Amino acid sequence: MSSHGQKSPAEMLGTPVQYLKGVGPQRAELLARLDLKFARDVLFFFPRAYQDMSELRAIGQLEEDQLCSVCGTVEEIDLRNTGTGRSMLGVLIRQGNEYLRALYFNQPFMRQKFDYGRKVLLAGTPKRNAFRWEMHHPRVELLGDDEDVPAGRILPVYPLTEGINQSQMRRIVQGVVETHTELVDEVFPDEYLDTHNLWPIRAALPQIHSPNDAACLEQARRRFIYQELLVLQIALAMRRHQLTGKRRAPPLEATAKIDARIRRLFPFELTAAQSQAITEIGADMVRPFPMNRLLQGDVGSGKTVVAEYAMLLTVAHGYQAVMMAPTEVLAQQHARTLARNLAESRVRIALLTGSLTPALRRATLESIAAGQVDLIVGTHAVLSADVQFAKLGLVVIDEQHKFGVRQRATLKQAALDPHYLVMTATPIPRTMSMTLFGDLDVSTLREAPPGRQPIHTYLGDGEKRARWWEFFGKKLREGRQGFVITPLVDSRTFDQGPTDDELDDELDDERGRESFSTHPPPDAESVQSKKTPDPFSAAVSSVESAFEELANGELEEFRLGLIHGRMSAADKEAAMEKFRRGETQVLVATSVVEVGVDVPNATVMTIENGERFGLAQLHQLRGRISRGSHPGYLCVFATPRNEESQRRLDSFVQTTDGFELAEIDFQLRGPGDLFGTKQHGLPPLRIADLTRDAALLDEARRDAQSLVASDPELHNTAYSRIRRMVQVRYGEALDLGDVG
Ligand code: ADP
Ligand code: MG
Repeated sequence: MSSHGQKSPAEMLGTPVQYLKGVGPQRAELLARLDLKFARDVLFFFPRAYQDMSELRAIGQLEEDQLCSVCGTVEEIDLRNTGTGRSMLGVLIRQGNEYLRALYFNQPFMRQKFDYGRKVLLAGTPKRNAFRWEMHHPRVELLGDDEDVPAGRILPVYPLTEGINQSQMRRIVQGVVETHTELVDEVFPDEYLDTHNLWPIRAALPQIHSPNDAACLEQARRRFIYQELLVLQIALAMRRHQLTGKRRAPPLEATAKIDARIRRLFPFELTAAQSQAITEIGADMVRPFPMNRLLQGDVGSGKTVVAEYAMLLTVAHGYQAVMMAPTEVLAQQHARTLARNLAESRVRIALLTGSLTPALRRATLESIAAGQVDLIVGTHAVLSADVQFAKLGLVVIDEQHKFGVRQRATLKQAALDPHYLVMTATPIPRTMSMTLFGDLDVSTLREAPPGRQPIHTYLGDGEKRARWWEFFGKKLREGRQGFVITPLVDSRTFDQGPTDDELDDELDDERGRESFSTHPPPDAESVQSKKTPDPFSAAVSSVESAFEELANGELEEFRLGLIHGRMSAADKEAAMEKFRRGETQVLVATSVVEVGVDVPNATVMTIENGERFGLAQLHQLRGRISRGSHPGYLCVFATPRNEESQRRLDSFVQTTDGFELAEIDFQLRGPGDLFGTKQHGLPPLRIADLTRDAALLDEARRDAQSLVASDPELHNTAYSRIRRMVQVRYGEALDLGDVG
């Protein structure tokens, strides 16, 4: 290590990047774009991937069926059709005088990855044919032209910005690692490192940037991933501790008498799963501190009635209950269901949405504040600062995944410690619920109400279209109803932002294009920014033109209705009402009907441009036709745009189990920027990947819980650095108060 003069380690780590070896003022500006301002930032600028050059081979040394990587330039690209919907892509790679051909079957989208003359790295298993070496479906990575590819090492791949290439970045980081690693202080006490099999930070830092081998990389990653997950889990455990330990809520006991009175109001027997959830909720609400429970259950599993029970339990004790839904359509439906079940009772219900007239809104707010209503159903309008509750005892949030952690916090503060029940029909993979909802207890409805019929899902193509519409018409003639779902309102929609009136609907269309992993499929982006023409995009149907075409074509003889997020709340409600009453037989819709809409007689559905929807959304849509006593039929017409969208559609057709689909989707796409999105309000994870690191997450969670259980505010000075990290990173997002 070189001499650092008189400066302290902290000062050294705070050296502006401009003074680092090989940087200077110009590059410093470029690095600032990557948020690299000080030596410390560069040291902890972890690779986004690695190139494993330990298996790098020259083409002359290839061995049949031995997994390896090969580096070369793209000489020829040949994409041909080999039958309907079938294709073959051949890419010839040159390395000196030797050649290798990469072949991709039925993956035309791979064409985009290759450019003539571009240097690439292929990884796969080579096969010898009569003329040359081939690799089927190799993984491909692009290399910079001047990128040297040293054999035998695992190379870091850093995020880049224009003006700095991979080799330059590698040199800059490597320089800082050599000079600054020894200045970094350990975060954990020594015994903690030992007992948890964690490398010291000064051993792990060089290895995460430039590992000696795969085993070292594994250990280095383990150290940093564990640390990141532990900090997150401690934050969640602390929040949970604060919510249960410090706050007070009214104890609301489900006495036998109350229980019987509530159950009598329901038009059906509760399923065992529903009863179980109700028992869990009752056990929470009887305690003098707030319930924080997540109720998850697949589409149609009957969550509403469970929430209704909790609400009526609250009202029975003279408190108010509020239910918040993500869309106006859904809020209205909930209000209607409640009103129907409570027709014989004295419970007073109010609807509070963004579309109330000012006069009606004022009157509604007054009666809420005066305690003249018991149940309030609404959209996020219930979060407004001017909503004052007389005696709030319970908050129910339907379709929680549409809201966020931060909104949960807002609502909590809006009132004085109510109990708190959130519901989601988007099953959440376990690793995600442990993080996103790590501060909640979970009840799960695994079992559907009795008498559910199967749903048949088909993937349609052009040839099947006529037959499908014929079948669709047949079902309508038998007395059933149907949906036709298209992704867009009209082609202009994305040029304008939503107006104020539409804020309430912001989740209905484009924002609602949400998946299990809660970010839109990659193609959604290209829908929104219409700048780059996309050679693979099929014509995108607009709901209005679809309506016109169907009304004058395939569905000419039937009564059609139209609904989308840009209609006024009143028009939407009118369209829903007509459909509910059977006046319209077919509802042509955007994903505005995605969540919650409950019309049991609707049993057939066509989805156009299925590739535009996320897996969760498709599954939610399918849920609209599984609610009655007749089997459901769904046909998705889609033009898959890449491997992922193909797999997504295939899985969707193969299983109707939402929990299984959630896991598949999570595997396919990863959590993405889950934590970075506005919806969820938690800062992004930097190195951990919830799909890949599920086991470490379990470990970190257990350790965090036992730490917080024995020392709720982490006062033990041995953990003061960890506590500071928790505060800096999650203090605000999780409203942790001053634990620091
Ligand atoms: P989700 O969990 O998707 O919100 P809902 O609460 O809307 O599901 O319930 C779906 C349908 O099942 C509704 O029509 C509801 O009336 C019905 N349902 C719920 N529970 C039962 C039950 N125990 N027996 C029969 N039908 C039920
Ligand atoms: Mg629901």
